[in-house]
Amino acid sequence: MAKNPLHCSFCGRSRDEVKILIAGQEGHICENCVEHAREIIDQELTIKDEKGNSNFKLTVKKPMEIKKFLDEYAIGQDDAKKTLAVAVYNHYKRLQQKNTDATNTSNDVEIEKSNIIMVGETGTGKTLLAKSIARMLNVPFAIVDATVFTEAGYVGEDVESILSRLLQVCNYDVAAAERGIVFIDEIDKVARKGDNPSITRDVSGEGVQQGMLKLLEGTDVLVPPQGGRKHPEQKLIKVNTQNILFICGGAFDGVDKIIARRVQTNTIGFNVDKELQENMKKNLLRYINATDLKTFGLIPELLGRLPVVTHLDPLDAVTLRAILTEPKNALIKQYTKLFELEGIKLTIENNVLDFMVEKAMEYKLGARGLRSICESILTDAMYELPSSKETQFTLDIEYARRKFDTSKMSLLKVA
Ligand code: ADP
Repeated sequence: MAKNPLHCSFCGRSRDEVKILIAGQEGHICENCVEHAREIIDQELTIKDEKGNSNFKLTVKKPMEIKKFLDEYAIGQDDAKKTLAVAVYNHYKRLQQKNTDATNTSNDVEIEKSNIIMVGETGTGKTLLAKSIARMLNVPFAIVDATVFTEAGYVGEDVESILSRLLQVCNYDVAAAERGIVFIDEIDKVARKGDNPSITRDVSGEGVQQGMLKLLEGTDVLVPPQGGRKHPEQKLIKVNTQNILFICGGAFDGVDKIIARRVQTNTIGFNVDKELQENMKKNLLRYINATDLKTFGLIPELLGRLPVVTHLDPLDAVTLRAILTEPKNALIKQYTKLFELEGIKLTIENNVLDFMVEKAMEYKLGARGLRSICESILTDAMYELPSSKETQFTLDIEYARRKFDTSKMSLLKVA
């Protein structure tokens, strides 16, 4: 009997051996192969919980791609970007390893998670990097502030409510939350005051650090669903934190002196190059390590659970200037868009941009100040132009100076 010439281009089964044969441009595929392909896709891209329910889809990006993505949103900070890229990538790998290991028996090496600590002055892009990562990822991501937490029994939120935020962002899908990433900001604010462990209890600092230990290391934690304080009558949700990646950020004001002291004591007595020493002094943060953070007041147990330490550089004028125009969401691009939506073409002269940077440096406002500076210069134009018939607006230095000098901002100058 002559075989039906139509067959599946993948498994070779003929038309009469299968139920459905879907035609493509140059071939066909049968229902079995579609099913099989679906499984492969699931395995590659999806994290599944123990019951086989699929949750957040993973778009796996290589570290270099992650860094490239971050480059679109944040200027500079290569060290932090690389470290984050590797940590997040490994986090994915780890999740996938768990996934395959559940079906495989070869479970000899377990990759441990590497929670991260980012140190850098306020306004240098810690939150921006964290948020940009969140934008790229398909795992639940929450940002929390360490300052709202206090030791159990005191006024404030329980440390466990860090996880409430994570549960909230993924609609209380516990399996998804258990694979998420949490950014804990202002971790330096829970540092122990002074290097000596105090005999009296330190409510805001050490107690909170102690409370965080069990979250970071990976255990079952009972979480109040709405955050805040646990109530006896409240139903708690059990979340296992073993696969949650924690990224902590903090300014650690004064840590440079600690690093300087350490670096100096290390180099005393050696014939260290003067130039090298000068360079080191300028970029002390680059030499930060866990010892400095311990001296600052983080307890060793906490540091042990945050093995990756990275830093963010202070922003200089060149970086600030780039921040104004280069990132995908750059301020100037945003204002241009706002004007465009009104049908007005906004042109900003280059020396105005330099002026903005100069003011941000002079007022010690960093990148965060750039926005207020732009507002103080452009608010009047944004108020008046929509009611006018103008189709163009050129922002020149005279206009910018005049508006800035008469704005409330000009009163903010710090000595
Ligand atoms: P931090 O968390 O370190 O205090 P943020 O990430 O909140 O600082 O930064 C404040 C704002 O400054 C951000 O919204 C962003 O617009 C801008 N900014 C800071 N650093 C950078 C950077 N490296 N590249 C681009 N923009 C930045």
